Amino acid sequence: MGESADIQRGSTHAANRDARRTARRPRPEGWGVLLGIGLVLAMAYVALPHGPLASALYVITTAGAAVAVALATLRPQRPFAASSWALIAAALALAATGHGIWYWLDLQGLEPFPSAADVFYLAVYPLFAVALWRLGAQAARNDGAFVDALIVGISAAVLGWALLIAPYTYDPGLGWLQLLVSTGYPVADLILLVLVLRLVFLQRTGITAHSFLLLGMLAYLAADLLYAHGNSAGWYRAGGLTDALWLVAYALIAAAAWHPSARVEPRTHTSPAELSGRRLLILGAASVLVPMVILATAGGETETIRVAAIASILLFLLVMYRMAGLLRETHVLAQRLEHLSRSDALTGVGNRRHLEEQLDREIARAERNAGPLTLAFLDIDHFKRYNDTHGHAAGDALLRDMVRAWRPSLRPTDLLARFGGEEFVIVFPHTDARQTRHILERLRAAMPSGQTCSGGIASFRPGDTADSLLGRADQALYAAKNSGRDRIIIASTDALPQSDTAATDQGNIDS
Ligand code: GH3
Ligand code: MG
Ligand code: MG
Repeated sequence: MGESADIQRGSTHAANRDARRTARRPRPEGWGVLLGIGLVLAMAYVALPHGPLASALYVITTAGAAVAVALATLRPQRPFAASSWALIAAALALAATGHGIWYWLDLQGLEPFPSAADVFYLAVYPLFAVALWRLGAQAARNDGAFVDALIVGISAAVLGWALLIAPYTYDPGLGWLQLLVSTGYPVADLILLVLVLRLVFLQRTGITAHSFLLLGMLAYLAADLLYAHGNSAGWYRAGGLTDALWLVAYALIAAAAWHPSARVEPRTHTSPAELSGRRLLILGAASVLVPMVILATAGGETETIRVAAIASILLFLLVMYRMAGLLRETHVLAQRLEHLSRSDALTGVGNRRHLEEQLDREIARAERNAGPLTLAFLDIDHFKRYNDTHGHAAGDALLRDMVRAWRPSLRPTDLLARFGGEEFVIVFPHTDARQTRHILERLRAAMPSGQTCSGGIASFRPGDTADSLLGRADQALYAAKNSGRDRIIIASTDALPQSDTAATDQGNIDS
């Protein structure tokens, strides 16, 4: 993140200059130009009659995408995970080579499948796979996203296979090499699909460049699927929309590499425990998909398969229901733990950690609004003596009773926290020192078991930190103790108007 901030700072000057120069007519961005050119070429390819010209256009467009992605990794403002983009460029170069061979054989009237073209085509997948993996590699190892991607990917693959491929698999005309090569593609496609889904699940916030990349990969997979179906069903012809879909995929990928957001490191989910209700729903839907396929495709005589399919749908739903319950429970426990970590076990008020966090927030707010904010330090007088006389348990009870007795005098926005031992801090937002003194006098009057307490008040001043504010209130408390206890003192630098100070019998001190 730091690196991208530097990049932004460094480029601001140049960006301003560019903005002035192009103020009248906004210059289209590189990624938009690439996407536009790619889509136009894809349309031109479909429009042209299948032949040498269209084939050359196809190979050149693919090679152009490879060059565009390679150049993106070389520019000064490199994309995040530049090595991934370099792998993608290499993959596109392999694809261009494969297309070159394929069309050359096709134009010669030779059978292009299977051929040397497939070696290049199949080599594209591992490069894509490593690139996609590395784009999300900074996430924790056990992030859950990969397993979720497997669940959804496998289900989608079964559905795609059942709908598009299975009806045509039995082709006695296929040789063993053709069979091997043609099974290689679906397997590679499945791996790619899982890796794309992993990235989608991993990312907390969508980044435009990555959305383009993922769309490009999905277009690539869709073209693969159409091609496989078209070949099996016999409708595929070179030069049609299926081939153009690959070009669209390349255009999307090249645009992704050039999109300014490609520089941004994505924020990812890092904890395996993160499982949103929506994700659970997706996983549930994916899980019941496969038994549904079984149900839909089972023949009439296979009653057992039908029963088993229905049962497994029910079982999946029940397991999901259980997991949703666990999820809710974990959520409740996490909230309770969070509450416990911030409250004092004896009195139930906020503890010091809670105070520190809230005080920083209140100080920031007072700084923004220039509104009043006061803080009081309170300490029970001679508490040690009380403990010694009545026992520790009675001391504990006094602390609890005191907090209960104070409550009615405090507003919901006032923050009471146990600072430690018999010392308490109260933060009063939107309250000046005079109002705070009134409240503290009420607290003093409410002290249980005939005990007394002393207090010091400090008002927020611009530039104050939590420490400086606490420090002044502590000094005022110290002065209250030194001048005889059982009184409230306002730090003198936060002095009240003269009449207020005169009206009370406790003076102010220097801090
Ligand atoms: P002072 O008027 O100067 O504040 O005198 P003090 O006796 O109140 O102050 P000191 O700091 O000497 O003693 C604080 C006592 O508070 C000592 C300690 O045993 C007692 N204390 C601190 N935390 C607890 C607690 O959780 N329960 C009980 N019962 N006593 C506590
Ligand atoms: Mg005390
Ligand atoms: Mg004390």
